[in-house]
Amino acid sequence: QVKENGRNHFRFFSPEMNQRASHILEMESALRNALHNNEFQLYYQPQIDLYSGELIGAEALIRWQHPEMGQIQPSQFIPFAEESGIIIPIGEWVLNEACIQAKKWQTQLSIPVAVNLSALQFRQENIVEIITKALKNANLEGRWLELELTESVVVQNLDAAIIYLKQLKQLGISLAMDDFGTGYSSLGYLKQFPFNTLKIDRSFIQNVTTEPNDALIAIAIISMAHSLRLNVVAEGVETESQLNFLHRQNCDLIQGYYYSKPLPADEFDAFIANVKKQ
Ligand code: C2E
Ligand code: CA
Ligand code: CA
Ligand code: CA
Repeated sequence: QVKENGRNHFRFFSPEMNQRASHILEMESALRNALHNNEFQLYYQPQIDLYSGELIGAEALIRWQHPEMGQIQPSQFIPFAEESGIIIPIGEWVLNEACIQAKKWQTQLSIPVAVNLSALQFRQENIVEIITKALKNANLEGRWLELELTESVVVQNLDAAIIYLKQLKQLGISLAMDDFGTGYSSLGYLKQFPFNTLKIDRSFIQNVTTEPNDALIAIAIISMAHSLRLNVVAEGVETESQLNFLHRQNCDLIQGYYYSKPLPADEFDAFIANVKKQ
């Protein structure tokens, strides 16, 4: 179905766009239902100190347990959630849930929980209040929460971002720059933000032992991050040779299947208890 203006010049809709628009609407109502029916679940992936082997933190990653379709991965629905705006209530659910879990872990494990913030969430004027509320609701101190933001989230919203990040930092929350290397990748502007941690994107780690250029990029990121006093996390570490490379380069933390996939909280507890016994 093609819609044209009076002079036959412009196409406002192509059939594909129409389908896409209706798909977004369908997904939005499915996501709204999912939120209402409690179908979302958080999985947690451990972050490990490369030298002591100690558990340092956990990243919360959302899953959708669909009653008919089974488990749906975030790549299948987060983009639609962002486009439709429903990421905002979903994101609030994630924050609350992660803070409640972090409170449980505070005494047993003493680790902070990291939460991913989407661009749309971070553009809300009251984002700092929303995060403060989630902490209060869980009776959690800010130091047990970490927020992960990508470069584009911060750069899209530069002036406000600096203000929000400084306020969040004041609450004791730590801040991680996510997926580093995939966006602007300029450490110059990073200096103006109060980040504690930089996460090297999995796409570099994947080929770090086979692609000399990726190895050089990883080395450069680690050394520049350290000169800015940032902690470095390598994402997506799957093999021992990647681990050894990162160890030689003085990377700080690793997160990846080599150690563990993301796990539901109870399996995370069991996994950590097992590791400690060994
Ligand atoms: P991300 O923040 O970069 O998260 C890391 C992703 O890498 C996760 O995928 C994780 O399961 C995966 N991963 C970790 N280690 C390995 C590894 O060794 N090998 C491989 N192949 N993959 C590994 P996941 O859970 O599917 O999440 C995908 C993306 O969805 C996340 O990327 C993040 O951008 C987004 N996301 C997940 N949960 C949330 C959430 O609660 N809120 C928002 N806004 N975004 C989320
Ligand atoms: Ca992340
Ligand atoms: Ca990441
Ligand atoms: Ca990534």
